[in-house]
Amino acid sequence: MTLSHLWCSLTALAPEVSRGHAGDVRPAPRQGGASCRQARTALKSPPETRCAAPCPACLPALPVRVTSVEGASNKMSGAGKRVLIVFAHQEPLRSFNGALKEAAVQALSKQGCQVEVSDLYASTFNPVATRADILGDLKSTESFRYGEETAAAWEKGKLSQDIVNEQKKVQDADLVIFQFPLYWFSMPAIMKGWMDRVLTRGFAYGFPQFYESGPFTKKKALISITTGGMESMYGPTGVNGDINVILWPMQQGMLHFCGFQVLAPQISWSPSFMPEEGRKGLVAMWEQRLASVWQEKTLKFAPLELFDPKKGFVLNDDTVKNLSTKPQGLTVGQHAGKPLPPNNQTKANDASAE
Ligand SMILES: Cc1cc2nc3c(=O)[nH]c(=O)nc-3n(C[C@H](O)[C@H](O)[C@H](O)COP(=O)(O)OP(=O)(O)OC[C@H]3O[C@@H](n4cnc5c(N)ncnc54)[C@H](O)[C@@H]3O)c2cc1C
Repeated sequence: MTLSHLWCSLTALAPEVSRGHAGDVRPAPRQGGASCRQARTALKSPPETRCAAPCPACLPALPVRVTSVEGASNKMSGAGKRVLIVFAHQEPLRSFNGALKEAAVQALSKQGCQVEVSDLYASTFNPVATRADILGDLKSTESFRYGEETAAAWEKGKLSQDIVNEQKKVQDADLVIFQFPLYWFSMPAIMKGWMDRVLTRGFAYGFPQFYESGPFTKKKALISITTGGMESMYGPTGVNGDINVILWPMQQGMLHFCGFQVLAPQISWSPSFMPEEGRKGLVAMWEQRLASVWQEKTLKFAPLELFDPKKGFVLNDDTVKNLSTKPQGLTVGQHAGKPLPPNNQTKANDASAE
């Protein structure tokens, strides 16, 4: 059985439950639609049980408040901000990813943002990092080293035009949203290829220009993903493992590494196995979030000052000593052999890395 079959069959077999915010699985409230009543029966919830927060499946039955542009104060508005949406789905409009992308374009444009979409499949973006990415002569005649050569080409303005075009979009953006379906616990290859080719050394990082010293410290970035598997499968005891671990390479290794202020990810769990009303609720929640996205706190990562360069950039002695009295690690990555701090990569208000 392939992994793909496994998550699909597990999803289909699982009781249909409505879901709240990341990490919570709650019985649906009484106000919900047919799917919620089924969920309540499946869960044998007492009738008085209510969601502490609206769950996507119930949202259409609840008074959904979407902050309108007119209603938003200037402080909340993104007027004048520039947003780049890097989009990786083969169906730009009819897919659920397409719906989230379109919702973001609408919601942000209404705020007065200038929104640009890089639709990677539609533009047949080349995700393969090769020597063709460097125009003209190579720096070295020795064995080909992609990182060295593209860094030198970036300095000399000799990168291939498709890379330059994407870099210009990133350079202009105040916020970059990456919209994609989770593929093999990661991003689709075309999106990964965008990261490989566009985030060139020099342009996106350097040494010591990395993490909070990186070039993009004034920019925000946000990963918006959809999954096949449902939320419980991605919990700390779930069959797929903790989603925080899956997000770490993308959010710490790619975005934060380049200096981006990383906002909490938007995770739309298992839209294919959700009733229509629930999916519409997910889109509404995304739109609602974007209304105040500019005011959001960012995820916490361990600051560079905690690491000792003389010892090979490991946590310094004071931090290790402090951690020894704590019940959990600092971050998903810097766990120091302790339990992972919960929600470290999913919630911006997590204080573990402070
Ligand atoms: C190669 C590969 C690897 C994968 N790896 C993983 C993995 O590791 N982990 C995992 O969990 N999953 C995995 N998946 C599953 C994948 O993540 C999901 O199939 C994907 O996230 C679903 O998103 P979608 O946009 O393609 O959904 P779609 O199939 O396009 O849409 C889902 C439903 O939403 C409907 N819809 C579209 N627009 C709207 C709208 N505006 N309002 C309401 N409904 C709408 C559609 O009609 C459809 O019924 C993998 C899939 C592939 C192909």
